[in-house]
Amino acid sequence: MLKGLNFISQFISWGSIFAGLNDSLTSQCRCLYQDPSCWPSPEDFSFLASQLSRSLIYPVPPESACYPSSGSGDCTEFLLHASDGNWRANHPGALQSTNFQTFDFQNGSISACYFNTTLGMPCAQGNVPPIGVDARNAEDIAQSVIFAEKWNLKVVIKNSGHDFLGRSSGRNSFMIWTHNIKNISYDETFVPEGGPNNESYNALTLGAGVQWHEAYDAAKSHERSLVGGVSRGGSVGAAGGWILGGGHSALSPRHGLGVDNVLQFTLVTSSGSHLTVNAYSHPDLFWALRGGGGGTYGVLTSVTYNTQPLTPLTAVILEVKTFSSPAIAQSVVSEFLRFHPTMADLSWGGYAYFTSQRFIFLGIALNTTLEDTNAIIQPLSDFIGNATAGEVARSTIPFDSLIDNSPDGESERIIGKNLEMASRLIPRELLETDYERVAETLLGLEVLISYHLVAGGAVSKVDPDSAGLNPAWRKALAHIAVGSSWTEGINASEIHQIHQIQDKVKRHLSVLEELVGPDGGAYFNEASLYEKDFQRTFFGEHYAKLEAIKDQYDPAGLFVVAEGVGSERWDEDLNCMTA
Ligand SMILES: Cc1cc2nc3c(=O)[nH]c(=O)nc-3n(C[C@H](O)[C@H](O)[C@H](O)COP(=O)(O)OP(=O)(O)OC[C@H]3O[C@@H](n4cnc5c(N)ncnc54)[C@H](O)[C@@H]3O)c2cc1C
Repeated sequence: MLKGLNFISQFISWGSIFAGLNDSLTSQCRCLYQDPSCWPSPEDFSFLASQLSRSLIYPVPPESACYPSSGSGDCTEFLLHASDGNWRANHPGALQSTNFQTFDFQNGSISACYFNTTLGMPCAQGNVPPIGVDARNAEDIAQSVIFAEKWNLKVVIKNSGHDFLGRSSGRNSFMIWTHNIKNISYDETFVPEGGPNNESYNALTLGAGVQWHEAYDAAKSHERSLVGGVSRGGSVGAAGGWILGGGHSALSPRHGLGVDNVLQFTLVTSSGSHLTVNAYSHPDLFWALRGGGGGTYGVLTSVTYNTQPLTPLTAVILEVKTFSSPAIAQSVVSEFLRFHPTMADLSWGGYAYFTSQRFIFLGIALNTTLEDTNAIIQPLSDFIGNATAGEVARSTIPFDSLIDNSPDGESERIIGKNLEMASRLIPRELLETDYERVAETLLGLEVLISYHLVAGGAVSKVDPDSAGLNPAWRKALAHIAVGSSWTEGINASEIHQIHQIQDKVKRHLSVLEELVGPDGGAYFNEASLYEKDFQRTFFGEHYAKLEAIKDQYDPAGLFVVAEGVGSERWDEDLNCMTA
């Protein structure tokens, strides 16, 4: 516990009300950067800084390094690393999807700092929060939260900046940056606080800023492994948005989702309290944090995961570089989908990417021999070989890390680019009964399908009501996502492109929605900003309970993100409460 913080926060709030200093607290709108009627003075920020372990930060878009007028950063270094997820994560002003660094005004103009400096546009702040805290511990976070609550600031919690819906950015907001909270500890007899002594786990506790590459390395040094995310270089945060949204992994069919492997969280609430949250302590919040979404209930300071013994992985790769006809693509993808339940029952996970031109599948099996893996994949491999007149390449290789798994450079392709996506969970029943239609519908989208084999198996065996996570996950076998990208361009031309992309994403969304039906659901972390009923799509029948728990722990609604629990009460920019 942070001694006295609750007391301090109450003192500050009451003191301000009596002094009549803080009218903005009662306002329906957030106080935005440099609004003279409410924005804290430099002295107020100095006071905040004096409470922190580090100086305040003033994030800027990383592209600014290439604008002479900005006077900050190293352009050569930026150009070298612009598509590197870890490099971007190290910069508070950088997001992995650059469109969320920019802000589109209603009048058709854009505030952005373009990669392409030859467009002749000045570098602008866009959606990047102009000021924030480089938090190093729970106390820093508590002080930041108390300050933000007092001044009614719009808060953005940012960790690695990987969010696909721009939830770790916000124009004119105040950033709490957790990326540098890097402590990791291993305990082979971990007992959740308040739990019985005989309930002991082999556990790894990760500070809020730890990324998957660091978590995997730490686990491996103790001969353990973790259910974790996959991206080039392991850049996704292991203890932020990933876990709060559910956290899928190629190991999920064997060991469950991230949320099925959490033993304990620590979190700072909007009152500044630092809570330990587990099955015994604040069990309602423990339920909600496992799937209720990032940036919604408070600021995580750590996550403790159960670990598994380090077991060898085997990767099998099947690739068709070019389909000679759409009919062959349809037949190969149909067979792959038909075969998926068999793989899920064997706890195989993995990823497939396909269009009507090409297909690649990376399957991951645990604790099995090359011979057994080959025997299992043989029927699918034979089918594809026959359908393509031998145009299938197959390899089976021992594999010991999820870090660098990126079969066609997918991560690299999307990092540092504009990207919006649409997604759906694919129910097992649909694959079993109608795999040909699923294949036809997906191929008909004429866009690269990212097909994640991250559900089924252990994921389906968990009681759907044991965590706040969308119950649709428990019936699903796959999570599919389709992305749309565009090149930057100044105002009108970019706005035109953006509108076209938005229309395209909406079209994809309605096709996917129709395919899986209204209860198919989607993964909160990898989804579209245009969900018509995000409550149902992301949270299913858990929504009402998730919202009630949010109201209990964040009564002032300090933490709100796009399409997150409680966000329907806010306007589109999340600046003003509307309900
Ligand atoms: C290249 C790439 C690969 C990916 N691979 C996977 C994968 O294998 N499996 C998977 O499930 N997902 C994957 N994702 C999606 C990923 O889960 C989301 O992008 C997730 O939101 C990232 O969380 P973050 O904390 O790292 O990022 P951020 O963008 O910093 O944060 C994401 C959200 O979480 C909130 N948040 C962050 N930290 C905290 C905190 N300490 N307390 C409270 N809220 C917090 C933020 O406010 C924001 O709403 C991938 C994304 C990318 C871009």
